[in-house]
Amino acid sequence: MKEAEIRPKEIFEEYLRLSELDGKKLNHDQFEHISCPACNTDSSSNKFLKNDYNYNECAKCHTLFCSPRPNKTQLDEFYFSSESSKFWSTKFFPAVKEARREKMFKPKAHDIVHLIKEKNLGVKNICDVGAGHGLLLEEISKISSDYKLHAIEPDSDSAAECRKKGIEVLLEVSENATEWHNRFDLVLSLEVMEHVHSPFNFVSSLYNLAKDGGYVLITGLGYEGFDILTLQGKSNSISAPHHLNFLSVQGFEEVFKGAGFKEVEVWTPGKLDVDIVCNATTDNHFINALQRRGENALKEFQEFLVKHKLSSHTWVLAKK
Ligand SMILES: [Zn+2]
Repeated sequence: MKEAEIRPKEIFEEYLRLSELDGKKLNHDQFEHISCPACNTDSSSNKFLKNDYNYNECAKCHTLFCSPRPNKTQLDEFYFSSESSKFWSTKFFPAVKEARREKMFKPKAHDIVHLIKEKNLGVKNICDVGAGHGLLLEEISKISSDYKLHAIEPDSDSAAECRKKGIEVLLEVSENATEWHNRFDLVLSLEVMEHVHSPFNFVSSLYNLAKDGGYVLITGLGYEGFDILTLQGKSNSISAPHHLNFLSVQGFEEVFKGAGFKEVEVWTPGKLDVDIVCNATTDNHFINALQRRGENALKEFQEFLVKHKLSSHTWVLAKK
């Protein structure tokens, strides 16, 4: 997979431009200073400023986080009505929907079903939190009819798309989904963690949805990936107010254990770090040399990153 297949350059740049404009419209006087959103340590250092948003690195767990950040009300309002959010759902997502189905949701569905079987998780029902149009659940249902599928999705248009696919939907954010507490064998959430105001509250809400002995599986962006560590503030992934939290491997472990999970496993099966760095920079001497070594060297280097949990694309599996 290549970056351009899931993020066509022109349309992605327009999305980033709108995000930057939206970010400037929020009233920074109302922003909140926070401790590390993963381990709650209040000791951190300024890492960089991007589009007037400050990012800190936690001194203890090395999570990267935006602080001060928009308060909860500002952030909810931003997702509901900002130009960049509208652009995402009306222009960006429709343009990449089928490419993302093929390149992202289909392989993820296969990986998830494989994981359920390999680890013998005993899954009969699944809930996808922030399910969007239900593409992941739809792809899971094509692989296996063993699972009863549910979605929690706060956007009414997206929720309607899920219903069309025969998925039972709760039109809500997970923090308010009390009527579905203690119900699921497996709770999924893809690429939501980096967006939320409070990772701890979000992970706690996933904990509440799982049954005792059930599992939560999330995917998202971590800080200790080759692309983000290399590019820092130049990484397109670092785009406030959309992306606020980039947890370290330790940070993911701490926030899940803090929310009450008994077992937590973190791994980083990303495929794009090297491609993203190659696309983003021409003056990184290491990457230039690696490119001269050829495709195989690039491929093996990406495999090395995965093996040592150094890709930014992170998976977390936790048992309640
Ligand atoms: Zn921390």
